[in-house]
Amino acid sequence: MIEILIFSIIALLIVIYGINKNINSSNTTHNIYSSEYYRGLNYLLNNEDDKALKIFTDLIDVDSSTIETHLALGGVYRRRGEFDKAILIHQNLLSRPKLDKSIKNQTLYELAKDFFSAGLYDKSEKILINLKENKSYSESCNEYLLLIYELSKDWDSAIKFTKNLKQKNIRNSYIDVIISHYYCEKAKDYKKDNQLNKSITVLRKAIDINDHCKRAYVTLFELNAQSNPSSALDNLKILLEIDSQYLIILSDEIVKLSTTHQDNKIDKIIYDIILKFSNDHNFSPILYEYMFNLNGFDSPEEYINLTKDNIFTNIFNNLYLTKNSNDNTSLSNNDLLALIKNNFLTYNCTNCGYTAKNHIWQCPSCNHWETIKPITISERVTYNA
Ligand SMILES: [Zn+2]
Repeated sequence: MIEILIFSIIALLIVIYGINKNINSSNTTHNIYSSEYYRGLNYLLNNEDDKALKIFTDLIDVDSSTIETHLALGGVYRRRGEFDKAILIHQNLLSRPKLDKSIKNQTLYELAKDFFSAGLYDKSEKILINLKENKSYSESCNEYLLLIYELSKDWDSAIKFTKNLKQKNIRNSYIDVIISHYYCEKAKDYKKDNQLNKSITVLRKAIDINDHCKRAYVTLFELNAQSNPSSALDNLKILLEIDSQYLIILSDEIVKLSTTHQDNKIDKIIYDIILKFSNDHNFSPILYEYMFNLNGFDSPEEYINLTKDNIFTNIFNNLYLTKNSNDNTSLSNNDLLALIKNNFLTYNCTNCGYTAKNHIWQCPSCNHWETIKPITISERVTYNA
């Protein structure tokens, strides 16, 4: 309903603009234009889009001053998801024999967005590649082109295209950071096909271009976890030096590495890593349990002290110490423990606010890279207080 209202208001404003313009320029044509516009508007208000579309496309042959009308209407059709109508309007404009160059570029840009929104990436790409040579469109064309390569998972084209850009940032991210993600995407594909050596080779390329590439170290840690645990832990240490929050993000994987290998030496390394990189709010119930077991099934005081700024650290510890007691409260204690364990970390996109349950590298809502950040249960409670 809101879209129909916006649609009608835009059409009405353009009609008024058109009438005024016609009155000023020529009194003889005023009646023809206004009556046609009114008919078109009337069809739009009555949801007879096809008839309205016919009138507005026919009007192009009447007067070039109506071009803005068509661009606006095409944009509204696109936002309404009626891509075929948006494409028809813009292609109709482009078929005019004497189209002003700036209007032509504007229309081509709109048509490229129509094709993009309709998922016709090849057609959109073709227009954008030509149009980006024009300075006023180059930045937005580059952003759309990169999105096309990303959405079609064409990582080689994405890498090649991004490396040729003469700018340091795109879509609020450093170019080097974005390229390192493309290499990591390639590594993910190789990993899926069990081509582990190729996967490691491209991860090295990611690190070459961005030595703080957290994703590459996360993937190297995961790749080595089964076959080469000490190398996996070396990668984990480098990652945690870059960003210690990955200690809680990767809690599950870290504990899994210990249970897979059942090796005291490995457990000691993990124990030291947890104590070295734990801090402030970064409490993880999964790491707590790990430390509890290593501490002879007793409260891991060192770990608790390091993470005491998280209000759930002590709550979890108190609940955990009484979890197996046979009194009447034990059931609810276990429920609370499970609740904290399942919700100790959630993720929010700092760019668009998208909320996720798991850690992801690219926001599915705004398509930005590395904008999804972890929020601990303690921080969430503080925010809401
Ligand atoms: Zn987002």
